[in-house]
Order: sequence, then structure tokens, then C-alpha cells
Amino acid sequence: LGVIEQVEPRIAQATRQELTDQRASLKLIASENYASLPVLATMGTWLSDKYAEGTVGHRFYAGCQNVDTVEAVAAEHARELFGAEYAYVQPHSGIDANLTAYWAILAHKVETPALAEFGAKGVAELSEADWETLRHRFGEQRLLGMSLDAGGHLTHGFRPNVSGKMFHQRSYGTDPNTELLDYDALAAQAREFRPLVIVAGYSAYPRRVNFAKMREIADEVGAVLMVDMAHFAGLVAGKVFTGDEDPVPFADVVTTTTHKSLRGPRGGMILATGEYAPSVDRGCPLVLGGPLSHVMAAKAVALAEARTAEFRTYAQNVADNAKALAEGLLRRDARLVTGGTDNHIVLLDVRNFGLTGRQAESALLESGIVTNRNSVPNDPNGAWYTTGIRLGTPALTSRGFTTSDMDEVAGMIVDVLRSTKPTTTSTGAPSKAKYTLPEQAREASLTAADTL
Ligand code: PLP
Repeated sequence: LGVIEQVEPRIAQATRQELTDQRASLKLIASENYASLPVLATMGTWLSDKYAEGTVGHRFYAGCQNVDTVEAVAAEHARELFGAEYAYVQPHSGIDANLTAYWAILAHKVETPALAEFGAKGVAELSEADWETLRHRFGEQRLLGMSLDAGGHLTHGFRPNVSGKMFHQRSYGTDPNTELLDYDALAAQAREFRPLVIVAGYSAYPRRVNFAKMREIADEVGAVLMVDMAHFAGLVAGKVFTGDEDPVPFADVVTTTTHKSLRGPRGGMILATGEYAPSVDRGCPLVLGGPLSHVMAAKAVALAEARTAEFRTYAQNVADNAKALAEGLLRRDARLVTGGTDNHIVLLDVRNFGLTGRQAESALLESGIVTNRNSVPNDPNGAWYTTGIRLGTPALTSRGFTTSDMDEVAGMIVDVLRSTKPTTTSTGAPSKAKYTLPEQAREASLTAADTL
């Protein structure tokens, strides 16, 4: 930091303060973690300075021999760790991975057959009329993904998102009573809608998914099965999710982030069957800009860490800690979406405390507990204020928290939320954002967070 200090002290100060803050609070944001020192160190190198558009051995720039090594090693680790036929480690983030995957599926399923039909080798050879036909066919394709308020991600076809505009989209939800995925309802929806792509995976669903069933549904309607395992990639890598819960043997294309439960650098990745490899491999430069070579190197280091027995223990602890957190909350009369968890996420419905998600998030933050507000199924408060708090255990598990620590954390959360009272706006109307939290409750939580 001394080197940065000399150039821009405010950046050195913000970086130092971030370390202090991350150490001083309980990080329960389900999508966050603490990357190891080797991963962090690998990101801070001169590999960042190199342009390397293209793919291994096929670059649009000279002098890419070291980036070739980096990308090949990262892809090799990814293939071996997840048992995938093909891995693409260039996407800069999870959203980039999803957009690249959608584009590759469209290229493979729509563009390649059209080129053969029109007798062209590439789009550059198409006549204006054939090009228009191809563009029209791209625009006709359908995607079925999990709705945002059931726990899906924006890129799973949410209408305002680019994915909802690339495709004609429909969303599947969860059963209104159990709040669990209803595979029969999903199958019926797929039969009626006939999508090109079914997307499985989630950002805020606290349960495991049966990917064998997802494969059956996709096969029945002739759809491509894409799984976004951004949230639970660490549990797949750590062999907590095996058999029907491991997406890789069942999906055509799997996308992920590398920075959540997988505990790597901020970035994305795509795994695919060999059939999709040539299309995905053209992601850069057709969808993505030049690869972040330093981040690909850090992905290789994180994937090497994820192969170890220690990582398997870590992944099992993440799931055990989530269960302990859920049980601790339930024992203190909290309501959880789906009644519990069997992954790394706990979705707490804060209605019983008389609060919105926004009020609960702010009160917890003040008390040293960092979470994020989240919609619950059929949320009465909408996506901004929300009715839920999403909690996740990957980060605290990295700090060595045990199941009994998680029970203590559950107690702290309930104590803070019980002490928090909603207040009114200046016009006297109930506010969805304002609240009061007695100093004593805040201090008690901060002290407990400190001792943990
Ligand atoms: N996919 C899922 C399921 C996610 O939860 C997220 C991020 O929260 C993403 C994709 C996007 O990842 P990124 O923020 O790296 O673009």
C-alpha cells in the first residue's frame, strides 16, 4: 500500500479501510468470500499489461506465449476439477459468462445450421437477404429461466435485462405453498412454451436442484440445458453436490462466477460439452474484450486450491454452517423461505419483525452484520425495499466459523431485528426505509461481532 500511497493516498486509504471493515464485520453476503493470499497476489501482476484477444494458440496479437500457458493451465484445472469436456476461463464476470454462453448456444443452434442452409462459410459471405433471415431467426428464439423473485438471476431472462431482450422469455417460479421448485409445473410450462434454452441455477434459492430432472425436461422439449452455478460452484468443486445435484454431467453448458463459494478472483467461466466448444471458444472477441490475463492466472491458482482435501472440508463446512444458521434462526421463531436450507443460502423473511428488507439490512449493517436485502416469492414490497434478507455462509466459513458460532450469529441477528422498530416518514406515513435501533442493542451486537 505504501507504493499506492505515494501516487494516490485516497486509494491507499480506501483499500486499507476496506480491510479493516471486512475484518471488523460479519460478512454474510451469500455471494462474497475471502480469496486466499496466493489468489490476491496473482491478480496484482504485469500479466495485466498484455493484450491477448483470441484463444490459446490462436491470438490476434503477437507475444502471447505466457498468456497461452496461463489460460491453458486454468482451463485444464477447470476441466479436471469439474469433470467437464471443455472449459473457457476468459469471461470477466458471471454476467459476461452468461451472455457469452447465450451467444454460443445461438451460434451453434441457429447460425451454424443457417450458414449451411445458405451455402456460406461465415456471416461475411451471406447476401443481404440471407443476413436478414438469420437476424430474424436469432430474434425468434425462446428462453425459460427462474424468475427473479423465486431466486433466479437478472440474466436468466428478466425482462429489463439484456437477456430478456435477446430472447422471447418466460419465467418459472416456485410452488406457492412449499416455495420449492415444482418440476412438474416446470415441465408443463416447457411443453407449452417450447424454449430453445432452459436455464437452471439461482442467486437466492436456499435449496439444491435436481439436474437429472432438469435434463429430462429439456430433453422432452428438445431444449438446450444451461446451468448457472455461480452461487454453488464451490459446493460442486468440493463434492458436496454430487450425483443428480452436480450440474456438469447433465447440462450442455454450465456457467459460473469464480469469486463466490469457489473462493477465487472476481471473474466468470464456462464449462461445456465438446459439441459447444467451438462456439464458446469464439467468445473473445465476438462477445468479450481482451482477456484479463492476470485474473485467468488467479483463476488457475484458485482452481488448484479447490482440488485439495482442505477445500472439500471447507465446502462441507459451508453447507453445515448454513444448516446451523437456519436452525438457530428457526429455534428463535424466525420464518425462512422454504423452511430451511440445504445449500449455502438462508433466506430470512423479516415480515414477522414488522420490517422491510431494507430496514433489516440497514439495522444489521449498523450492528456489524453485513447482509443484503432480497425479494421473497411474491414479495409485497417490490425489488427495492423487499421483504427478505439473504444470508450466506461461504465467507464466515473461510474465517473458520463453526456450527456453534453460526448459532451465536443467528442469536445476534434475531436480537437486532427484534430491537429494530420501523418509523414514519415526515408526513407521518409508515416508512419502508426508516427505523430506530436502540444504541444498547447496536453496541451489544458490535461487541459480540468483535469477539467472534
Ligand atoms: N449468475 C448468478 C446466479 C449470480 O448470482 C450472479 C451474481 O450475483 C451472476 C451470475 C453475475 O455475476 P457477476 O456479478 O460476476 O457478473
